[in-house]
Amino acid sequence: MTSMTSQLCIYNYREYLENVKILITGAIVFGRNIAIDGFAETPVRIITHAHSDHLIGLNESIKYSKYIIATPITLDLAEVLNYVDKDLLPHYKLKKKPLEYHESFKINGDEITLLNADHIPGSSQVLVKLEEPKITLGYTGDFKLTSRTEVIENPDVLVIEATYGSPIYSRPFKESIPQILVDLVLEGLNKYKRVYIYAYHGKMQEVMSILRDAGVSNPFILPEKVYRAAKLLVEKYGFNYGVFYRENEFINNNNNSKYIVFKHFNLAKSRRLDGRGLHIVLTGRYTREPFTKVDDYTYVVSLSDHADYTDLLKYVELSNPQLVIVDGFRPGEAEPLKTALIEKGFCATVMP
Ligand SMILES: [Zn+2]
Repeated sequence: MTSMTSQLCIYNYREYLENVKILITGAIVFGRNIAIDGFAETPVRIITHAHSDHLIGLNESIKYSKYIIATPITLDLAEVLNYVDKDLLPHYKLKKKPLEYHESFKINGDEITLLNADHIPGSSQVLVKLEEPKITLGYTGDFKLTSRTEVIENPDVLVIEATYGSPIYSRPFKESIPQILVDLVLEGLNKYKRVYIYAYHGKMQEVMSILRDAGVSNPFILPEKVYRAAKLLVEKYGFNYGVFYRENEFINNNNNSKYIVFKHFNLAKSRRLDGRGLHIVLTGRYTREPFTKVDDYTYVVSLSDHADYTDLLKYVELSNPQLVIVDGFRPGEAEPLKTALIEKGFCATVMP
């Protein structure tokens, strides 16, 4: 299909476009009742996951909306990570409506279901069946395409993220990364006793799980917020993070002990290259190789918690929507993804 006929297809789907909007506030609005990942004047606000660009306007939503819907983990993380204003906490507790994956909730005839997105703990996709007009709407949120991801099949409209929506972001080696990471950590522990891992929130939890699943049992030293999130996930949801400490509380009495220190990604540039630790910087951005050695004590490893370009296209093919709306609000490559989808014969547009 050429882009000319694609433009015509948008015209054919104008009824859908009256019921799906991505606002400049970042909210994805489905019908009259539902706003997702941003504020709009609707009775329901859904949060797909606890990353800041999906929690925008949460406090306004707590004031305005009747229900704040998310998975139990996401609702708890939003609170533990301080995204809810202190004085709004009582309202939040009253209005929050936890939904497990596959559980449904109806608001004025519209039916909401959350599905696994395999992005960070608690993350979900959103499936909505509108009552009037009778159409099915899907939003992927941020996702990674794995065996745990549930593809929204045959919706009328699919709203999709575009973080790595350009052909330059393909990672053919992505499946081998967890093992490479484990090997580097073990090598670092043997050589230096200390390994420093620099990553964003969400990816840290993924690395913690990868290491524990691989049998690495050395203690984790965590920044305050990550510690609080980890404690919640372990105590309430049964995650296995083994032994971990808060960074300000950890005292090392034994010089021979080996441990793994997690630090925010932005601190990587001030790492100390003094031969007393191995530094591993995790990046989601494109690297030609799965990992690169940047100096004697530092590796950069390409670990992403988003679908790469190939998987974004694959998702849309598996989903087979009538119309695709690419999220152009959040950072990413919306236009290149739209173009690629049109070339594959899909009807696609970017919003806002
Ligand atoms: Zn995210």
